[in-house]
Amino acid sequence: MLRPDALIAGGGPAGAAVALQLARAGRRPLLVDRQRERADPVCGGFMGGDAIASLAALGIDVQGLGAHPITRARIFAGRRVAEAPLPFQAAGLSRACLDEHLLTLAAAAGAGIERGVTIRQAFPDRLTVDLADGASLTGDALFLATGKHELRGAARPVAMGNDPALGLRTRLEPGEALLHGLTGVIELHLFRHGYAGLLLQEDGGANLCLSVAQSRLKAAGGDPARLIEEIACETPVLGDRFAGATSVGPWVSIARVPYGWRARQTTPGLFRLGDQAAVIASLAGDGVAIALASAARAARDYLREGPAGAVTYQPGFARQTARPVLLAESLRRTGERPMLAGALLALLGQAPGLITRAAALTRTDREEVASP
Ligand SMILES: Cc1cc2nc3c(=O)[nH]c(=O)nc-3n(C[C@H](O)[C@H](O)[C@H](O)COP(=O)(O)OP(=O)(O)OC[C@H]3O[C@@H](n4cnc5c(N)ncnc54)[C@H](O)[C@@H]3O)c2cc1C
Repeated sequence: MLRPDALIAGGGPAGAAVALQLARAGRRPLLVDRQRERADPVCGGFMGGDAIASLAALGIDVQGLGAHPITRARIFAGRRVAEAPLPFQAAGLSRACLDEHLLTLAAAAGAGIERGVTIRQAFPDRLTVDLADGASLTGDALFLATGKHELRGAARPVAMGNDPALGLRTRLEPGEALLHGLTGVIELHLFRHGYAGLLLQEDGGANLCLSVAQSRLKAAGGDPARLIEEIACETPVLGDRFAGATSVGPWVSIARVPYGWRARQTTPGLFRLGDQAAVIASLAGDGVAIALASAARAARDYLREGPAGAVTYQPGFARQTARPVLLAESLRRTGERPMLAGALLALLGQAPGLITRAAALTRTDREEVASP
């Protein structure tokens, strides 16, 4: 049985960022992830000011990675539209690019990175995981960073409603009009039981990402393109945007997204990071910022207090994320009801400064990166 200092389950932004900080502090963490190659997961690719600042603190310049600069937010509901400047410089960056960069930096700093390794089950009381190939790994601490995927033995006790949200994402090859319309902007399209985000990212593609009630995709025969056609009857501009693509990539999906989840307690040695710690409504586009803030805070508490630091870290991080998660959740619930969304858009049309204010209030406080 291998025994690294700290064992990290999952190599998304949360897992990779904690591996990087522990390795830079002279520890020898081991990170395992089931993906061999980084692929774009279901994510809107929107990096807010807090995510950009956290990445800068780790030595990552998103503009240097070619991210598309974003300064404005535009929101549609039915035929109404409201637009306002963001209170920070934001960016569109593909997750394949960001995640690969973080993992490469972590490996260069001395973290062990094992790709293509699937964890079959976790044993939190023993800080041990069993791998699909039959091997076991144990650390002095276990950092759970498997995102929205539950690990057997350590699943989050989330109560889901009977029509949970699912996430869908594809890459659009933008035609000229789409390219022009999206330059410098993140668009949000609100519709019945869901919403879509659309932006340009560093690879020249437009990232189209939807959060939608499972029942709507089912009613569209499970076909995302048909779902878009149906949504276009409610929100015509989204249909125009979709038609403005010269090609549409494959769709990826994730089921049962537990918006609003926060882990409030844990046991010594078990640190939940990223989506395992808190899931913010995607409308706010702050999931990566939460992943990075959780990694910084967990690394700091682990380096300061050892594995026992988990029991101060977890409730502290739950408190830190309470305001943005609760506010984003109430905005999500409003935006998904056409009557309320219409009234909201009428208000935002009169007072677009409220968009700027909401964008500021749904950010997560940045954590100082852990120092050795
Ligand atoms: C519709 C939608 C849109 C979103 N848009 C945005 C946005 O625009 N901006 C933003 O900041 N956030 C957005 N988010 C949220 C963001 O995607 C997540 O918050 C973020 O990915 C969380 O990072 P993480 O590191 O916790 O998990 P993940 O990025 O999910 O990484 C988890 C890793 O664990 C690995 N893993 C899982 N199970 C196992 C296993 N059994 N064994 C080994 N490895 C395993 C996976 O391969 C993966 O690499 C969106 C979410 C949704 C649903």
